[in-house]
Amino acid sequence: MTMARVTFYGGVDEIGGNKILVETEDGSVLLDFGRRMGYTHDFYSQFLQIRSKNALRDMIRLNILPKIDGIYTPNLLNATLLFTEEPRDEQFPFDKAPDYWTFNGVMPYTEEKHAVDAVFVSHAHFDHIQDVSFLDPRIPVICTDKTKTLARAMTDVSPSGVDDQYYEVNRNLVIKETGQDPKNQYKTLCLNEYECSEITQAEKPVIEDPKTKFLFTHEYTPQYREFKTDLEDNVKGIKYKLIPVGHSVSGACSVLLTLPNGKRVLYTGDIRFHGLGETTFDDYVKAIGQPVDVLITEGTRIEKENIITEQEIFDEMTKDIAKAEGLVLINFGWKDLTRFSTVYQASLKNDRTLLIGYKLAYLLYEMHVAFPKEYPDPRTMPNLKVYLQREGDLLYSKADYTKDKSKMGYLSFHGRNMAKADRNIVRIAEVLGLGGEVGNKNNPLLTEKTTCDYKEVYDLATHHLSNGVRAYQIRDRPKDFVVMFSFWDLNELFDLVPMDSEHNTRYICASTEPFCEEMEIDEDKFMNWFDYFGVHYDWEYADEEKEQKIFTRRHVSGHACQKELVELIRAIKPSRIIPIHTTSVATFKKIFGDAVTEPKYGVPIDIS
Ligand SMILES: [Zn+2]
Repeated sequence: MTMARVTFYGGVDEIGGNKILVETEDGSVLLDFGRRMGYTHDFYSQFLQIRSKNALRDMIRLNILPKIDGIYTPNLLNATLLFTEEPRDEQFPFDKAPDYWTFNGVMPYTEEKHAVDAVFVSHAHFDHIQDVSFLDPRIPVICTDKTKTLARAMTDVSPSGVDDQYYEVNRNLVIKETGQDPKNQYKTLCLNEYECSEITQAEKPVIEDPKTKFLFTHEYTPQYREFKTDLEDNVKGIKYKLIPVGHSVSGACSVLLTLPNGKRVLYTGDIRFHGLGETTFDDYVKAIGQPVDVLITEGTRIEKENIITEQEIFDEMTKDIAKAEGLVLINFGWKDLTRFSTVYQASLKNDRTLLIGYKLAYLLYEMHVAFPKEYPDPRTMPNLKVYLQREGDLLYSKADYTKDKSKMGYLSFHGRNMAKADRNIVRIAEVLGLGGEVGNKNNPLLTEKTTCDYKEVYDLATHHLSNGVRAYQIRDRPKDFVVMFSFWDLNELFDLVPMDSEHNTRYICASTEPFCEEMEIDEDKFMNWFDYFGVHYDWEYADEEKEQKIFTRRHVSGHACQKELVELIRAIKPSRIIPIHTTSVATFKKIFGDAVTEPKYGVPIDIS
């Protein structure tokens, strides 16, 4: 038998952070490369963040990222590659502290010597995708087309640090002396200083916006990772099949590998069977076909039994909203489109309009563009609007939203452009007589390629400003609305809830339970705000002894329970079971005995 082995660098005795290396003599692949959330939070917090310019080296040193040769982007491992010329020694203590610049003992990816030929991403949750950011961009990402769409939308609506480059890759950075350039001397008291910056492109590229076909000029040519979305193919002799599964995010899949030695390896990813309109148990087992040799299974809820399904969440939520005598606030994850659909339908049933956040609106529009048959244009969905927060100077002025353009509407591309010099949305506003500098002759719109509808482009770019619902409008008729509401929206209570009057606002929690200390503290703060503002909510004790209160959830997990996992394992009859993404391997052992192999961090398991 030819060599085949599997090594786990995350997801071992922890929930999430899966990083699984499958090696064969022909080729090798990674199954997920997610962030070890819990472990990372042992060190970092919201106010103590990863040093972005040293992120890879710091995270390897903290063991957040594994020491694997031949996978990482060279200049993230070795910053000296960024110098444009030989730097002055006195400034850079290369010999005194070489670890400032390079991480010794881990080799980067090179064309000749690399450890993997592809990385599979099972779904777009951070504990499965985020650390792809550090992998060399020459390693292709294989996932479903929905996961790709989500990765793009997540990139468009979130600030991007070096650890959020799982979709768009860092532009070309260089370290150079800036003080010598007379143009830059106004910046400094001291001449000849070094600075790390992006290489500016002399020629501004023209880029077609995928949604509108409008040709924007851009400051730089964006670089994207290569995403392959074929459901079946092979990588260097490893045949694969992506099997769509239900989870609390769209586009989730399991990965079935057939290795060159004929061994069939199934990696479940995160999986559930109790969602609505998701892959059923029978269809899943059928897609797998014959028994598998090695099953790498998630075990998040191996000790739990399901009490409820998504359908029951819908029924309960519909009743909750019906009982509410004022405004309803609902908390749910913006990437969970199954839950969105539940909340939307429950709002419709009660003749209320659902007001969503700009990130979810953006994602819905992206999904509409990519999958028009499955997802309608959110602008045309009845009783669905965007909640327009006051931003910036809190004036509801259009100028308040210019920093983050997707807060204004459904386009993000134009946000990085200069209004005066570029062919962008401001030029369109000029042509339509709605803004910009009418009569400006600089860089006019292309007249030979006016296939796109300027009014439509302008509408997409500013849709929330013209159609978003503002807090004072909600105060007028609170019973007409359900507002999507998370911890980060608590400041909105000032605007939503009038002072000194009965308002009967009710909060419904349809998001996941707190799973770390930081989230428990946030939950306490959440309640403090609601108690102070007189917002009603249901609660229970998470822990009777500690008297720790949490919100009563209208939520089902994204993970299969014990009964479902056991049934699944009996149906696909694996010779060997490797549980990950769980802290209860012992429970698997109790049920399946010797068939269970307990993974150890970084220790290869022979599967030849
Ligand atoms: Zn997960």
